[in-house]
Amino acid sequence: MHTRTSAQLRTDSVRSSLQRLCQERPAYQQLADVFAPLLECAELLREELAPTCPALPPHAQTLKGQGIPLLIGNDLKTWDQALDQSLERMAPVLETLLERPGLEALLRDQMQRSGRTPADLVLPLLQGDEAAIKRLATELEQDRKDRDEPAIDPGRLGFFLHHVLSPVLSTAAAMLPEPATWGDWKEPVCPVCGCLPAFASLSPREPAHTEQIVSGGGRKHLHCGLCGHHWRIRRDACPGCGQADSEQRELLYAQDAARERIEVCRACNGYALCVDLREYDPVPALETVPLALLHLDMVARERGLRPLFRSIWNVLPQD
Ligand SMILES: [Zn+2]
Ligand SMILES: [Zn+2]
Repeated sequence: MHTRTSAQLRTDSVRSSLQRLCQERPAYQQLADVFAPLLECAELLREELAPTCPALPPHAQTLKGQGIPLLIGNDLKTWDQALDQSLERMAPVLETLLERPGLEALLRDQMQRSGRTPADLVLPLLQGDEAAIKRLATELEQDRKDRDEPAIDPGRLGFFLHHVLSPVLSTAAAMLPEPATWGDWKEPVCPVCGCLPAFASLSPREPAHTEQIVSGGGRKHLHCGLCGHHWRIRRDACPGCGQADSEQRELLYAQDAARERIEVCRACNGYALCVDLREYDPVPALETVPLALLHLDMVARERGLRPLFRSIWNVLPQD
């Protein structure tokens, strides 16, 4: 079995995680077929990038204490070469998936003319600057006018750039050690990149790092959908508003799948999706988890709940 080792958690490969998902829930087959090439390409790319990818700078205690994520204010230029490699590797898969052939060529033309680098292209994602992505889409649209190619909307462009940036940041973030306690970071966003998490998990049983005993697991983490970092949070509080009153919180899960749950907070009317990794063997590739939880997202939204987390998978335009 192919496994990926990070400093934080041992997980199964993307391919066998998706195969198992489809065995358990055949309705996911079509979705898994669509996204498998993308997730597998990113997985391979991370392995390629790992030996040379520049590490993240240290997170200054003062900034951390103020709840300011590590990469805020960073221009990402350190990772220009890795981002260029990511653009080259991810583009063919993304162009097929998004049905936007020639997008990489358009972006490269645009960079050459404007003097921008790959870091400049993906920076708006880190800054949550949707207007900049819209502007870039418009610029590409103007470039395209004489060509016989489909138009590019900001939604697709954002999805494309997300999947160029994500493997690079994930490679760098995987080098970070797991924080020992949840008190280190109390913000509802990722301490590394500042993005909203994609899902929560209860940690699997695993040998403790410092003792030769197997820990019981069950520590709660949030997982970032952009950089893949996971950080420990308080188990009994809402990850959105911090409400810890058990009367205000409710768990929803299907009878046959108690390991996947919707955690509802009545205080903020938000919901978070959580998987109990103690109930999986092996632990699935974490980047497949948001996809595998889309059915719970639908249930929660039908109930009028507000997502506390961000899922890039259900913002992908469907046509
Ligand atoms: Zn992150
Ligand atoms: Zn809440």
